[in-house]
Amino acid sequence: MTRAFDGKRILIATHNAGKLEEMQQLFEPYGVSVVGAAEMNLAEPVETETTFVGNARIKARAAVEATGLPALADDSGIEVEALGNQPGVYTADWAETSNGRDFIMAMTKTHDLLEEKGASHPRRARFRATLVLAWPDGHDEVFEGKVNGTLVWPMRGQTGHGYDPMFQPDGHDITFAEMDPAEKNRISHRADAFAKLIAGCFG
Ligand code: IMP
Repeated sequence: MTRAFDGKRILIATHNAGKLEEMQQLFEPYGVSVVGAAEMNLAEPVETETTFVGNARIKARAAVEATGLPALADDSGIEVEALGNQPGVYTADWAETSNGRDFIMAMTKTHDLLEEKGASHPRRARFRATLVLAWPDGHDEVFEGKVNGTLVWPMRGQTGHGYDPMFQPDGHDITFAEMDPAEKNRISHRADAFAKLIAGCFG
C-alpha cells in the first residue's frame, strides 16, 4: 500500500519553471497547491548517488529538511543499451561544458561511441524518470516511468530539449523533437511516472 497524500501544499524540488508549471496543472484537480524550490530560496544539493532514485531522494529529502513541507523531486535521463545503459544518471553531465550544457555535443558523442563500437541497428534506448515523494516524518514513495525507443542519426526535429532529436519512441516514426509537445507529454517517461504517482498517492 502506498501512502495517500492528504496535505494541501507540496514543495516541488526543482528550479525549472517549466517543470513547476507542469506540476501545478497536474495537482490542481486534487486541491493541492505547489511551491517551487526557487521561491523558497533552496540550494540545489549535489547529486552524489549513482541511481535515479538515489538522486531524486537526495533532492526530495533536502527540500523537506529545509522547509518542513512534503516534497516531490524527480531525476531522469537516457539509457543506451549498446553503451551498457550509459549515460543514465550522467545524462546531463555528458552535456556539460564551461559555457553551460550542450546537448548537440552530448548526442554527437553518443553517436560516435556507437559507431566506434560498431553497434548494430536498431540502437535501443529508453528514457527513464523517477519521482520521489518525501514526507517530513521520513517516509517516501517512489514511482518509476520509462519510454522505450531507438536512437536515430542524424538528429531530427526542433521542439523539446536534451536528447529529444535522436530519440524515436516505439510505435512512432518521428523523434520526440518532431512530435507535438502535447503528444510527447502524453507518452513520455515522465507522464508514465506521474500517472503512477497520481494513482498511488492521489487516487
Ligand atoms: P534531470 O532529471 O533534470 O537531472 O535531467 C536529466 C537529463 O536527462 C536532462 O539534462 C535531460 O537533457 C535528459 N532528459 C530527461 N528527460 C528528457 C526528455 O524528455 N527529453 C530529452 N532529454 C531528457
